Amino acid sequence: MTKSLFKVLLTVAFVATCQTIGAQEYDLLIKNGHLIDAKNELNQAMDVAILDGKVAEVSADIPSEKASKVIDATGLYVVPGLIDMHVHVFAGTRPDEYISNSYTSLPPDGFTFRSGVTTVVDAGSAGWKNFKTFREQTIDHSKTRVLAFLNIVGSGMKGGAIEQNLGDMDPKLTAIVARQNADVIVGIKLAHYSGPEWDPLERTVEAGELVNMPVMIDFGGNMPELSLETLLLEKLRPGDIYTHCFAHVGGRIPVVDENGKVRPCVCEAQEKGIVFDVGHGGGSFLFEQAIPAMDQDFLPNSISTDLHTGSMNGGMKDMVNIMSKFMNMGMSLQQLVERSTWKPAFYIHREELGHLSEGAVADIALLSVKEGDFGFADTKGWKISGDKKLECELTLREGKVVWDLNGISMEEWVKVK
Ligand SMILES: [Zn+2]
Repeated sequence: MTKSLFKVLLTVAFVATCQTIGAQEYDLLIKNGHLIDAKNELNQAMDVAILDGKVAEVSADIPSEKASKVIDATGLYVVPGLIDMHVHVFAGTRPDEYISNSYTSLPPDGFTFRSGVTTVVDAGSAGWKNFKTFREQTIDHSKTRVLAFLNIVGSGMKGGAIEQNLGDMDPKLTAIVARQNADVIVGIKLAHYSGPEWDPLERTVEAGELVNMPVMIDFGGNMPELSLETLLLEKLRPGDIYTHCFAHVGGRIPVVDENGKVRPCVCEAQEKGIVFDVGHGGGSFLFEQAIPAMDQDFLPNSISTDLHTGSMNGGMKDMVNIMSKFMNMGMSLQQLVERSTWKPAFYIHREELGHLSEGAVADIALLSVKEGDFGFADTKGWKISGDKKLECELTLREGKVVWDLNGISMEEWVKVK
């Protein structure tokens, strides 16, 4: 071989190698799906390419050759990984401590990815005294991104008299721990207080003000009842979250009155920026409230589960089941995705989440809409029938497949001789 011929061959080989490398500039390509990205106002056919766990390109037709791996999302909706803003995941083995390091809380990874959820926000299972345990035990060991509202009760949500102890509601100590853990704590929670005072609510808001974070309020159970109007229009600040918005429990004035009308203070509060969160739970979602409210154009601001052992085997089930329920009550998929992705990210001040902008983390869910005869239950024992149901086909967390219902990311099996 002459020297010049060798040079030519070397050049050809070099160019070919460069083209091969250039041809696979992405790790993964989700092709032929219908993208819903509320932040970027996209609701159309779009391909999404991923590199190093991040969204690298979103455009109408990205060539398959550009990616090492391609997932065909024909017939599927491609959405940002769902954000469930109200869960209880401080699972543990302490007896008689309800949802705080005890049996009623659940380990997140077993219940999130299968319904498209990639981020959860624990709603006050831990307080400042046991947050360290929660962090070390659950947050640091979960593939699911776990964020948290810190309970104003220092001991957390241990149930019974512990949650009634005004002496254990310290805004300053709560704020200190929230600030120390600001990478994962996104707000302050009040729940289950049944006394007649505003004191716990005011301390919760005070802690929220100290750290510039929203509060989430599980209101009610107070004897005598406290005024919903005072809470919504005087006590809470724009951006604060009113969870269990379609509940009707003793000691809580419901959003829909006895004549089936949404109370004026509720509409006014939503206008002013109070966030009405579903927080379905085991006893906090009634068609009696939700259907008249939606008929009067009062829609929830965010969809969330209130996941725990007491809700998941009842009418709640999981995030996509709640979304399906609302879909059959008249909300569009676009409205539902917005309220399960970008809106909750915005409410918890995590605007880097909940969308698929280029450079955003590649937390992604692929959803299908099934047609058939389905039933959806509330927490009072009523059901509605529906003809549409969402199913989670595939979930990616930081670009990695963490759930694949029908193996759409896998090769077809061939018998090995
Ligand atoms: Zn809860």
